[in-house]
Order: sequence, then structure tokens, then C-alpha cells
Amino acid sequence: MKETIERLKEKGVTLTPQRLAVIEFLMKNKNHPCVDEIYNVIKKKYPSISPATVYSTLQLLKEMGEIQELHIRGDKACFDPVAERHHHLLCRVCGKTIDVKVQCPLIDNLKIAGHQVEDVQAYLYGVCVECLKKKEKKEKKQKKKEVKK
Ligand SMILES: [Zn+2]
Ligand SMILES: [Zn+2]
Repeated sequence: MKETIERLKEKGVTLTPQRLAVIEFLMKNKNHPCVDEIYNVIKKKYPSISPATVYSTLQLLKEMGEIQELHIRGDKACFDPVAERHHHLLCRVCGKTIDVKVQCPLIDNLKIAGHQVEDVQAYLYGVCVECLKKKEKKEKKQKKKEVKK
């Protein structure tokens, strides 16, 4: 995170306390928060901050390659402090967006059929491993109950 702030300073970006608060919150948050979620947290400390300020700070970070913007939840833009390319899974049970580490030929291939690829993001939809485990446990319990009957 310090590096991010230093890079921004080097590029002559004015770092207001509000902007810093947005950067600090996002850099510590790996849950891919959306603008509203970030705004609601920052608002507690800086009641005068507007959603537009939050959004413009996020756009600035994105343009500088410090963060990624995801549209895995449709219109709701989410932000990821991990700048390296990776894919995401959205769990339909708990609603979490989870980083997926998978060998993907698209991620490393910058030229495909002569086209220059600048960004790759795959959105996977399903049920996350935690939710699957919970479901399994529930089913086991239920089976035990049925046996007792
Ligand atoms: Zn889940
Ligand atoms: Zn991610």
C-alpha cells in the first residue's frame, strides 16, 4: 500500500485525506467491495465525502493500473486491489466474489489472431467451496436424523 501511495505521489496526484482513506480501505480489503460499500465505510470517518469523490478516486487508481474494476455483479462495479490479472468466481449462495487461480492461456497471451489483448477477466458463476462444505455438513446431519427416526 505504501508503494501505491508513493507511486501516486511521484505522478503528482494530490492526496487529500479523503482520497487516502479510500486508498487505505481498498488496499486492505480483498473482498472486492463495490462503490457503495466503500462509500459507506469512508462516510463514517469523513461525513462530507460524496460518492462522486469515492468514484473518481477509484477511477484514478484504475487508470494508473493500481487496481482493477470488475463487473461480475452486472452494473455494480466492484474494485480489486490486486492489480495482476486473475479471474473471479461469484458465489450465488453467499454472494462473495472470490479470486480464482487457474492456469489460463488467455491471461498470458497478449496477442491473439493479430489482436492486441490489453485486459482479460473471466467471470465464473457458481457455488464457492465454503458454501459447498456447509451444504455437505447439513446433508450429513439430516441423514443422521433420518436414520434415528
Ligand atoms: Zn459461497
Ligand atoms: Zn480479485
